[in-house]
Amino acid sequence: MSRAPEVLRPGAPWEKTGNASWTQCGHCANWFPVGGELLARPQVKLHCPTCHTEFLAADAARLIKAG
Ligand SMILES: [Zn+2]
Repeated sequence: MSRAPEVLRPGAPWEKTGNASWTQCGHCANWFPVGGELLARPQVKLHCPTCHTEFLAADAARLIKAG
């Protein structure tokens, strides 16, 4: 078993951990899944599907890496 890196509020729009990592957009606060290959390339910007903001993983509001 792996430890959860973050403790989230009840009602967060994701329910289970698995192969996907998750990040929270700093603009609209929506969570969306990101592939591990993106996180391995910190120069690649993530694209929020909700507000279409692009940001680096290092600038994400919060980030949960898959175990
Ligand atoms: Zn957003």
